Amino acid sequence: MRGYGMFSVNHPGWLEKERPTCGPLDAIVAPTIVAPCSSDTHSMHGGAGPKDNMILGHEAVGTVVEVGSAVRHFKPGDFVVVPCVTPDWLEIGVQNSKSFSHDSQPFGSFKFINSEDGVMAEFFRVVCADANLTLLLDGVTPEQALMTVDMMSTGFYGAEMADVQFGDTVVVIGIGPVGLMAVGGAALRGAGRIIGVGTRPNCIKVAREYGATDIVNYKEGDIVEQVMDLTGGADKVIIAGGTKDTLGQALAMTKAMGAIASVNYYDAADTLCFPALAWGLGMANKDIRSGFCPGGAARIQKLMATIKYRGFDAAKIISHTFHGFEAMEPAFKLMDEKAPDLIKPIVYIDDLQAQ
Ligand code: NDP
Ligand code: ZN
Repeated sequence: MRGYGMFSVNHPGWLEKERPTCGPLDAIVAPTIVAPCSSDTHSMHGGAGPKDNMILGHEAVGTVVEVGSAVRHFKPGDFVVVPCVTPDWLEIGVQNSKSFSHDSQPFGSFKFINSEDGVMAEFFRVVCADANLTLLLDGVTPEQALMTVDMMSTGFYGAEMADVQFGDTVVVIGIGPVGLMAVGGAALRGAGRIIGVGTRPNCIKVAREYGATDIVNYKEGDIVEQVMDLTGGADKVIIAGGTKDTLGQALAMTKAMGAIASVNYYDAADTLCFPALAWGLGMANKDIRSGFCPGGAARIQKLMATIKYRGFDAAKIISHTFHGFEAMEPAFKLMDEKAPDLIKPIVYIDDLQAQ
């Protein structure tokens, strides 16, 4: 089968690989819609360490084509939503991973583009299908569901880790697709003022629609000064973009007893450091939390319920649509180049489905 991925670091392209085999607990899925992600482009550039001959992509909805002998809840032909994080639920480490992001080692539950080929292929394998796949909730569109599998799960997790409370002043540093979801999650948790940090006009528009009350432009001056001028200090800061200096900035703009929650992906080559004063000399009860997208079927079902019953339109972040299997290449390149009008591209694999 063919898939779009990386031959090696900084060498993306079309790979020819064996179709994955289906173990007793697994399912083989053919993607219907996929969404390239900044984590795919980071991986291609070696940000997560060296990788060879790996099909990329980890955000998909699709159709089950085969199930293992022990799979109870799914059958070929089912249209399924596939979390980007698919734990091996038989691993003891998953039971200790309250967020269901890590098996027995960091990122162990993030199979696609790590231990499994990714979803930008004719077929991909989903481990522990019964616990990881879920059917589309009636009233939720496939495009909205696709946005739950990583963007909404990760962004909302930022708001959950920050423990956003009614009336909190929340800063979301970075309002790309992940940060936009953090804005939406903070608003749904009852935040008061929400300040988004970013510059892209269509991101700013969606940020306001999702609940941002103010926007800070990091290109127009120090964001700590700008946030302090606006608010006098934030209760919670969610990091979903920026540089290796952003953690220090987040600490400096957070009040005592506040919290910083980072869902940002730092490069393996980065060293993070910050002034002790920004952290209140370590004694101001400014909690630093960080985490990775929670996975599994129950998580996606809850996010789909939020879309359906709270009217949260997760598909607002889709800025570009492509059609056809081959279009995964330009969609991935668009993600890599970060066009100024980009939020999130999706690719309808409609040519394969038609066959
Ligand atoms: P984007 O690149 O689309 O967005 C980044 C945002 O950060 C943009 O709003 C950008 O502003 C802003 N930004 C850039 N530089 C600065 C700066 N110096 N100071 C403040 N803000 C800045 O990223 P995504 O939304 O796709 O992803 C966000 C992060 O989350 C990435 O690191 C990604 O790898 C990570 N991620 C983490 C996951 C997890 O599970 N933890 C899952 C998926 C992604 P501008 O408007 O100017 O572009
Ligand atoms: Zn992703």
